[in-house]
Amino acid sequence: MARGGSERKQVRLVTKYETTLAEIGRAKELFAAYGQRLGDDERLGEMLAAYQREIAATWRTFAGSRVVELCAACAGADQISCCFDGAEYWFDRHLLLINLMMGVELPTERWAEGQCLFVGPDGCRLKARFAICINFFCPDLRQRIGSQELLRLRRQGGREVLAGLELEEALRRWLAQNAG
Ligand code: SF4
Ligand code: SF4
Repeated sequence: MARGGSERKQVRLVTKYETTLAEIGRAKELFAAYGQRLGDDERLGEMLAAYQREIAATWRTFAGSRVVELCAACAGADQISCCFDGAEYWFDRHLLLINLMMGVELPTERWAEGQCLFVGPDGCRLKARFAICINFFCPDLRQRIGSQELLRLRRQGGREVLAGLELEEALRRWLAQNAG
C-alpha cells in the first residue's frame, strides 16, 4: 500500500542481539590490540584483583543463603527466569573487555532458546556481570529469604558492583588515553 505518494523504503532495524554481537566483537578487538598492555598496567591490575575478590565474596555470600537453591529451582521449572533473551543487551564493550581480561570466553551463540546469550550449561558464563544480574531479587524470592538476608546479600552485591564500576571507569580512561 502506497502512502502519500512517497517511495517505499526498506528499513531494517538492528536487533539487540546484533548490537550485542557487535559489542562482543569490539571487546575482542580491543583485547587483541591492548590486552598485553592492559595486563601490564599496575593500577588496573590492582583494581582487577580487587574486583575479583569482591566477585568471589559475593559467590561465597550467595552460596551460604537459600538464593542459589531457590533460583536454580525457578530456572529448572521453565518459568520466566531473570536471565531472559535480551538481558545480554545490558553489556557494553567495556564490561565485556573486563570479562576477557579475566579469562572468560565470550559466546556468540545462544546455548538455550529464550535465555540470555551468556547462559551456559552451568549458569552464567561471565565473571564480571551487570549490576542487575547481581542485585535483582524477585518479590517471591524476597519474601522467602526475608529482609535480613536480603540486606546481607545486597550489601555484598553492592561492594561487587562498586569495585566493578571503579575498574570500568579506570579502563575507559586508559583506553581514551592509549587506544587510537
Ligand atoms: S530472582 Fe526470582 S525470578 Fe529470578 S531466578 Fe530467582 S526466583 Fe527466579
Ligand atoms: S546473570 Fe549472566 S546469564 Fe543471567 S542475565 Fe546476567 S549476564 Fe545473562
